[in-house]
Amino acid sequence: MNFLMSAVHVAKGKKFDTQVPLLIVGAGAAGLCAALAAKEAGADVVVVERDAVPTGSTALSAGLIPAAGTRFQRVKKIDDSPRQFTDDIQRKANGEADPAVVEAVARGAGPMVEWLADWYKLPFDVVDNFNYPGHSAKRMHGLPSRTGRELIDRLRNAAEANGIVILTRSAAEQLVVDPDGRILGVEIVRRDGAHEWIGCDALILACNGFGGNPDLVRRYIPEMADALYFGHPGNRGDAVIWGDSLGAMLSHLGAYQGHGSVATPHNILISWAVIMQGGIQVNREGRRFSDETLGYSEQAAQVLRQPGGFAWDVFDSKIAAVARQFEDFREAELAGAILTFDTIAELAEAMHVPAAIFGAEWNEVENLKLAGGRDRYGRKFLAEQSCNPPYHAVKVTGALFHTQGGLAVDSRGRVKRKDGTKFPNLFAAGGAAVGVSGSIAAGYLSGNGLLTATVLGRLTGEAAAEQILR
Ligand SMILES: Cc1cc2nc3c(=O)[nH]c(=O)nc-3n(C[C@H](O)[C@H](O)[C@H](O)COP(=O)(O)OP(=O)(O)OC[C@H]3O[C@@H](n4cnc5c(N)ncnc54)[C@H](O)[C@@H]3O)c2cc1C
Repeated sequence: MNFLMSAVHVAKGKKFDTQVPLLIVGAGAAGLCAALAAKEAGADVVVVERDAVPTGSTALSAGLIPAAGTRFQRVKKIDDSPRQFTDDIQRKANGEADPAVVEAVARGAGPMVEWLADWYKLPFDVVDNFNYPGHSAKRMHGLPSRTGRELIDRLRNAAEANGIVILTRSAAEQLVVDPDGRILGVEIVRRDGAHEWIGCDALILACNGFGGNPDLVRRYIPEMADALYFGHPGNRGDAVIWGDSLGAMLSHLGAYQGHGSVATPHNILISWAVIMQGGIQVNREGRRFSDETLGYSEQAAQVLRQPGGFAWDVFDSKIAAVARQFEDFREAELAGAILTFDTIAELAEAMHVPAAIFGAEWNEVENLKLAGGRDRYGRKFLAEQSCNPPYHAVKVTGALFHTQGGLAVDSRGRVKRKDGTKFPNLFAAGGAAVGVSGSIAAGYLSGNGLLTATVLGRLTGEAAAEQILR
């Protein structure tokens, strides 16, 4: 592919300004979970982060992590298992995800959530008042605010309290490797322009994917080239660029997490709870256009294909009460993004959609709910989802949240070469590594992003520490 050959500096006997055992690039959920795990195992760790304060896409997320068989589920009598979780991931990914990695993250997720709760006092609980598409059990674990900001702040506090050095305002520019592909160190550029060469015994790439690199998005995900990018702008594809220069195996570069429910023009995420609890989407002609419950990721492109590139989420106040647990939804209400009316006719007028067409769609869905039937797209409705006034609508568009393709890794995050052999001391986790979503947007099961960030992050930190201390 050859994105940029100068991204890697091949050298032997290079002198570094400092030498550290483990260097991690990126202080998002992946980098910080890897750092905590490595430090616990006895390795000294330095994390380099381009931003002044670590946020990443992690801070933009709802902070919900799927995990099966946790004690938080048991308290709420939710029956689940890693096996069931594995099956859900592969069903959504159409069997395309690497089975070893899927198995590792599905098995590791429960222990990982309990590890963060017990060792680092992250107060998780399980979301039990609605379920996400494709999950056969309620297994999304979140913090009280249901924000990724709380997740990243708590991870950063834990890292700092445990003596992990996070060098902020420090961008990794170039990797230094020897001719055999062993990473010798990294060139860092500080915010003031100073260059520094840091040598390391092992390197973990945790700098997410290429959502913030328009050229790579256009090349690999053309259907989202003109879409709103809703992730962290600093995720510029450095891991795949370096990996390409090194001869690493890059997988599923066309895969991504989209979202079909971002309030426009406000640019605020509207939780998919509004759909899963019985809401629908219509286009500007007042017509439904899909089975919305298949997943919010693939719905991004569906919404963008509608006239004008937008749709309306329509639901009632009972559903709004569930969505209100999310700060984003409360923000959208404060911003005036959510319309509220007592009748569907008034709502239609405010939405500027033809009242007769929209009214007929709405009535058909409400009748299907009462009958427990399926619509023309195969969506199943239930009586308990019946809507009552007042009704709500919010204008939404489709957005790119993050890329799911990346460096091919094994179940402990070791980066693979094109021939399948592994680099001696290079690891990747989170969005820097290929995800478990297969090759297309529809393969993304809710939570796959933070799943591989936190669980693979932890496994990678342990593996790197083991190698250094051997
Ligand atoms: C709006 C939104 C909502 C989401 N909601 C969820 C959810 O509820 N559940 C879920 O599972 N997933 C969700 N996701 C996806 C999830 O946020 C990501 O998959 C996850 O945060 C990735 O973690 P990461 O550590 O790999 O990357 P990030 O959190 O993005 O961290 C990467 C870090 O690397 C830094 N960096 C990049 N390049 C360099 C460099 N060269 N040098 C130094 N630093 C560098 C960046 O500044 C950044 O801080 C959501 C995403 C978005 C955008």
